[in-house]
Amino acid sequence: MVSLQSAQELAVGLGANALTRHLDSVNRDLRYIANQEALRVLLNAESPDALGYLTRDLIAFSEAARFYDQIRWIDETGQERVRVDRVGGTAGAVPAERLQNKGTRYFFTDTMALNPGQVFVSPLDLNIEGDAIEVPYKPTLRFATPVFDASGRRRGIVILNYLGRTMLKEFAAAAGSLSHDISLVNGDGYWLKASDPADEWGFMFERPLTLANRYPDVWLRMRTADSGRLRTGTGLWTWRTLHPLRAGEISSTGVAAAAGPSQGRVSHDGYIWKAISRVPPEQLTALGAATAIRYGIIAGGLMGLLAVLSWLLASTLDDRARARELLQRLATTDGLTGVANRRYFMDQLKQYWSGFQRHPPLPVGIVMMDLDHFKAINDGDGHAAGDMVLQHFGRILRASLRDTDTAGRIGGEEFCVLLRGCDLEGVRDYAERIRHQLEIDPVILGETQLAVTVSCGGAVFLSSDTIPAAAIRRADAALYRAKAAGRNRVELG
Ligand code: GH3
Ligand code: MG
Ligand code: MG
Repeated sequence: MVSLQSAQELAVGLGANALTRHLDSVNRDLRYIANQEALRVLLNAESPDALGYLTRDLIAFSEAARFYDQIRWIDETGQERVRVDRVGGTAGAVPAERLQNKGTRYFFTDTMALNPGQVFVSPLDLNIEGDAIEVPYKPTLRFATPVFDASGRRRGIVILNYLGRTMLKEFAAAAGSLSHDISLVNGDGYWLKASDPADEWGFMFERPLTLANRYPDVWLRMRTADSGRLRTGTGLWTWRTLHPLRAGEISSTGVAAAAGPSQGRVSHDGYIWKAISRVPPEQLTALGAATAIRYGIIAGGLMGLLAVLSWLLASTLDDRARARELLQRLATTDGLTGVANRRYFMDQLKQYWSGFQRHPPLPVGIVMMDLDHFKAINDGDGHAAGDMVLQHFGRILRASLRDTDTAGRIGGEEFCVLLRGCDLEGVRDYAERIRHQLEIDPVILGETQLAVTVSCGGAVFLSSDTIPAAAIRRADAALYRAKAAGRNRVELG
């Protein structure tokens, strides 16, 4: 049997937990995006292509994550450069001519003043569009961090506008299953979530709607104690304090006015929310049949309830884990063929090489492949047909891989495969299999079939190699011999 008191403590605990998990997840997303490959490339060498890749990746991320109203890179002059908005449930890039300069907004100046790795978290408030509070209300938290190029030069900030609605709903749902009256207030005692929505967001409207004003005796205690319980004429109060900022992160007090300067900096200790449960006096005095039954049921079903809640919490977080995974895949995959892109493949080559140096008895095979007379396909059947051939070959390669293998597209119609645990014999077998597979599996182009062949050069890492490129060179030389000997064949180096 759970007592009324411990049920209330559990309620605020569950509510606080729901909030913390959301905030942690946003934090991870921000760090992930700030270190994202497409962004790094862009910061080091700006080009329309690099801008396009980042935009594409951020749209995919926003689509999958669903919780971000805006995702932006704002450069060091305060100019928005990439901005992905979520409108009516879909993510899209804001066209260049509608990007704005945010150089004077507090979130920009405050974040620009941070050290690498530090995070700025805005107050949780209602989004302002133009000069007016957006309706329906859009509770928003902004998470931002400064970004740097390879030489350490400050290149602006990455900022996520996190839609707080789901987080607040889950807070209420998690806590509300055990408490009749659950609320969340900020450090000044303004309600961010209240049982009566009319009490919420007082500070946005300059209305003195605070817990301090309505229950001064309760607030006095709450303000000074991180967590606690208090029984007064207004009921049984149970609360717990949360710190949305983690150590090292900063915030500002923020401002309701769109262009106002930040009024001050706040650190971990100064930025607080309080999760509060209140059991009104009439329920306390007459812990009547209904209440007793309610808590009785809760006691019996507590484990089940906890299981359901953690499942609910985990499911939304899963979406974001999936989004991160998707972004990772986009950044490492060649869009046409689905195998690793050149950059990622080269990273992998280094991984295989250091693995080989640690465990030289485990061989690593390399197969370089180049489609034969590919230029003739492009010239004769068109570039689109050429692309279909590349896709076809990508499918064959992907189907051929074990978990420990990596295939990459390292040039237009040049591919390379790394085979862990594969000696020269194994390299020959593998290359022959691919060569044969392509030979017997023509590309279907409408009514016609296109016979395509591939030449392969194989090699293995040798313990006398000092760099992985040495083995690549042997495979390349073997490939060259395969071409010279008439193509559609395998040579070993
Ligand atoms: P070889 O048998 O000696 O390898 O002859 P080849 O014609 O395959 O060799 P070459 O390297 O001269 O031609 C490669 C062609 O691949 C040239 C380039 O236009 C084309 N190419 C490169 N990337 C792409 C692409 O993404 N799509 C298409 N359709 N063609 C591409
Ligand atoms: Mg070729
Ligand atoms: Mg070529």
